[in-house]
Amino acid sequence: MKVFDSAKQQLKKAAKFIDLDKNFLEAISQPERTIKVTVPLKRDSGTTDFTRGYRVQYNSLLGPYKGGLRFHTKVDMDEVSALGFWMMIKNAVVNVPFGGGKGGIEIDPKNLSEKELERLTREFTKKLAPNIGPDIDVPAPDVNTNARIMDWLENEYSKIMGRESKAVVTGKSIQNGGSLGREQATGLGGFFVLEKLVEKLKLKKPLTVAIQGFGNVGSNFAKILYDNGYRLVALADVKGGICNSDGEGFNVDLVKQCREQKGFLAGCYCVGSVCDLARKYDGVISNDKLLELDVDILVPAALENVITKKNAKNIKAKIVFEMANGPTVFEADQILNKKGILVIPDVLANSGGVTVSYFEWYQNMHLEKWSLEKVNFKLKEKMEKAFQEVWKIHKEKGVSLRTAAYILALKRLAEKSTIAKDMAPTINPDITSSG
Ligand code: NAD
Repeated sequence: MKVFDSAKQQLKKAAKFIDLDKNFLEAISQPERTIKVTVPLKRDSGTTDFTRGYRVQYNSLLGPYKGGLRFHTKVDMDEVSALGFWMMIKNAVVNVPFGGGKGGIEIDPKNLSEKELERLTREFTKKLAPNIGPDIDVPAPDVNTNARIMDWLENEYSKIMGRESKAVVTGKSIQNGGSLGREQATGLGGFFVLEKLVEKLKLKKPLTVAIQGFGNVGSNFAKILYDNGYRLVALADVKGGICNSDGEGFNVDLVKQCREQKGFLAGCYCVGSVCDLARKYDGVISNDKLLELDVDILVPAALENVITKKNAKNIKAKIVFEMANGPTVFEADQILNKKGILVIPDVLANSGGVTVSYFEWYQNMHLEKWSLEKVNFKLKEKMEKAFQEVWKIHKEKGVSLRTAAYILALKRLAEKSTIAKDMAPTINPDITSSG
């Protein structure tokens, strides 16, 4: 099933529980605007290649479009539409004044030099510049993008506009107007939700955890869980993972050290200074096997569509905590629900990232600099409130947490839609440019 179709099935399911205007439902079932551009990639060798770039401005009922930019070979319009849709829902769940958006470039940045990556980002920014801006559309980091790339984007956009425009993008470096706490925000936000869940369910710690994905989201989440007494028994990245079933769990600080030397987790089975500790570990594990481990909490934190109709029946975790966007396809979600596995949906679990992106945008717009304590305090408040609201609907209506989150979001969107009905801007639904 295509990823955007899977997302729309989730919408359809939740929409049955509330009385929604047919036109409203139709309007939010498709992006307001899609942008496809051809981006030149000037190679160090002097030649030029071309690749495709995308931006989906999914919905702006709650505010400027907001969502990450992904650099990955699998990026296409279907994927960014689904991701933009989830951003719309997520921003409504966590109640930040942003709409949904997402974008990316079809490229593997690992095959580019630093200079090539910078030129590519700047060319992409030139193509997007007429359609983004602090009040229009505010990108952020996602898979394979980071603060450095966001800094280039901000710098190029400001040059084009002829004035500094820090709030055009979030997830920037601290020196360049980024917010303290943004880098850890998705992981920390997830942790605040998880702690509330553990409290609600009266679960006894230590709880065992397996995490797929060890990038910004996965590694920060792993570190916070490790520091708070959770037992990390398996970790994986794109090349596979490492597993430890002696009950002790990984020391994430050592794993991080080792990964820095080796580049990938699978290389950390037994290496260098961490060799003695690593020796205790059972060894390597495939991404597929990791998903099927008998753990308390399974955390997909890499890409979408990893829990499918095929493997859902083999999932043994008691809780699936979705730190990636869209890791569970629609049919798989139904199977997990039937098996009594509690799924904490992406639109709640990983919404800490966009929450602190909102704080960064707000600081830039108001020329403020918040302390880390203030950022984390406000993040905690937002995440716990969203969790309580979703939990209440889950209990009252007897629906899954995903459906409950969608109900909450749809109510907020529909409310705004009535107010905005007569003020809807006229937009050109498709823009395609090249060269
Ligand atoms: P990242 O590029 O920093 O890390 C991605 C990780 O996933 C890497 O460890 C990579 O090796 C691993 N990976 C990639 N392909 C894989 C595969 N096929 N199997 C297993 N592992 C694989 O990206 P990120 O920012 O950590 O994003 C991860 C997920 O979290 C994405 O779904 C993203 O949309 C979502 N997300 C990110 C943020 C954010 O603030 N960065 C916020 C909310 C949600």
